[in-house]
Amino acid sequence: MTPVLSNVERIAPGSTIGMIGGGQLGRMLAIAAARLGYRCHIFDPHEHPCAADVAAAFTRAAFEDRAALEAFAAQVDVATYEFENLPVDPLSVIGDKLRPGLKSLAVAQDRADEKQFIEKCGARVAPWRSVSNLAEVEAAVVELGVPLVLKTRRYGYDGKGQAWVRSPNDLGDAWDSIGREPAIAEAGVDFAAEFSIILARTADGESRLWEPIENLHSDGILRRSKVPAGKSVLANADEARSMAIDIATALEHVGVLTVEFFATASGPLVNEIAPRVHNSGHWTIEGSATSQFEQHIRAICGLPLGPGTRAGSSVTMDNLIGGEVNRWPDLVAEEGAHLHLYGKGEARPGRKMGHVTRLCG
Ligand code: AMP
Repeated sequence: MTPVLSNVERIAPGSTIGMIGGGQLGRMLAIAAARLGYRCHIFDPHEHPCAADVAAAFTRAAFEDRAALEAFAAQVDVATYEFENLPVDPLSVIGDKLRPGLKSLAVAQDRADEKQFIEKCGARVAPWRSVSNLAEVEAAVVELGVPLVLKTRRYGYDGKGQAWVRSPNDLGDAWDSIGREPAIAEAGVDFAAEFSIILARTADGESRLWEPIENLHSDGILRRSKVPAGKSVLANADEARSMAIDIATALEHVGVLTVEFFATASGPLVNEIAPRVHNSGHWTIEGSATSQFEQHIRAICGLPLGPGTRAGSSVTMDNLIGGEVNRWPDLVAEEGAHLHLYGKGEARPGRKMGHVTRLCG
């Protein structure tokens, strides 16, 4: 059989990958990149970003610093980002070297644009309204009912920038607590489970998906991910997979894309998208034939994608949040537990400090 030749430019091992953002996702991407023979150059405003500890080069500069971004772009062969709360405009100096492109970044960082985009792709979301003043919040409560959740349009993550309205009396307090910022009001979903679909897409449009991942949150933070997912998720899986592919295609996304869902009796609802590797995919390091980190590097460098098949009959990943990281002596002694520590220093409450993955069978 004649192999199908791809038109996509191949960035060969030995090249330098620029990484905008130096947190734990950048760190695990840099480790995966190093395994394939790439060098990583981290761009981050902090003094000691944890990804810089495992990378070949580090530029410390603000994300808005165009001159620093230009110099960075000149030193790398391809560039990617590990989180989405980045100013879009200055990143345009990176040009075609940026994968995924600016469209994925722009859509994912504004909750109203994101919902509109998802709906345009034919996928479903919970009923929602844009709100920018108290009168609009009041109108949204009348239209959508309670409970509903207010979420700031920008800069929200891990449940931050969110407030629940459980009765019309909560409305003023909820609006104050999100800082009276432009927001969306979203109907509370009575979901059976939460899950994510993670996929990787190449520049010539090939997509590979992992199986659906069931996610357990508390206080808006992911606690545990597990595969295989339970029945309520599996019943929503086919529809969710096709929604995720449609969204990736419409974004012309290159690299890993995560779509988070609520599983309901009447089918999946998209909660949000992340144009990047995701906490719910950490299990793939030991639990899958190809990790999400390696797959992202493969996709942005124009290499063939690997299989996403699971190793073992079930896999769980538990986050170590804040002081939970102090359990490391027990975890590192536990046979079969794969401990990952991010080297972040101070274990502040709510901070993701590491994770542990366990494979069964
Ligand atoms: P988000 O930052 O949008 O992912 O929200 C964080 C968590 O809050 C989600 O993972 C859910 O557990 C919960 N949540 C967010 N939006 C809703 C909703 N509309 N209905 C029910 N729970 C929600």
